[in-house]
Amino acid sequence: MANFAAIPRLINMIGYLIYIAAHFFTQFSAAVAPIQKIAPAPVVDSLTKYIYLSFDDGPLPGTRNCITICEQEQVAATFFEVAFHQSRSSFGKNLYKRIAGNPKLFLIANHSYSHAFYGDYLNYYHQSDSSLEDFLKAGRILQTNNNIARLPGNNAWNTSNIKRASGLVRPLVKKMDSVGFNVVGWDMEWRFNKSGRPIDAPEKIAALADSLLLLNKTKTKNHLVILMHDHEFRASVDSAKLARMIGLLKRNPNYQFRKLTSYPGLKK
Ligand SMILES: [Zn+2]
Repeated sequence: MANFAAIPRLINMIGYLIYIAAHFFTQFSAAVAPIQKIAPAPVVDSLTKYIYLSFDDGPLPGTRNCITICEQEQVAATFFEVAFHQSRSSFGKNLYKRIAGNPKLFLIANHSYSHAFYGDYLNYYHQSDSSLEDFLKAGRILQTNNNIARLPGNNAWNTSNIKRASGLVRPLVKKMDSVGFNVVGWDMEWRFNKSGRPIDAPEKIAALADSLLLLNKTKTKNHLVILMHDHEFRASVDSAKLARMIGLLKRNPNYQFRKLTSYPGLKK
């Protein structure tokens, strides 16, 4: 006959054994794999993205509008100036003085004296000694306080981090490197038509800037260099497009405008 009185005791014993086993397991597992708080992964990718507006070939008609709009919008910009355009007239010298007079916002950088012997690109790049002297002469006239230069009509780069030069311009780039220049090109261009007026709408340019930054298609991640030309914006209807484009970019709170002296990886 079954001892029914023993059943509750058996249940109690089984429960106790389960309790002991659970307690043992907890202690054991605590000793082997202590529970740790997992620290969040460090943030390595800043949300901030830097935009470098650059205007080439001035001082020219259009430069005044570029200066005024950047001052109104309070955005930094780099003017790659052609020393011949600066030195040939009081018009050029006065515009140069306006840019040089606002060092908080503006940087004057070297875009050569003659802009490739006034557009003779093949001869210019085949005569690298003369073209180097053309840049050195421009530096003396423009009194640039930096070592940033851009080649006429060519998207070459030569910084500590970026090396990019076609066979045509490589001899000049090497010589510029040896005397301490950084050669800085661009990530995107606001192109102009045969009449020298901007081809694309400001909305399209701002969207292109957004996408290049978003898709990491710039030379340096989170840094975007935009090439424009002063003369594109000489008509008020076109300078309004420049203001519109800048306004669209400013809507993004993560965008900051910088002079090219802040670009990463420049040789000192
Ligand atoms: Zn140019």
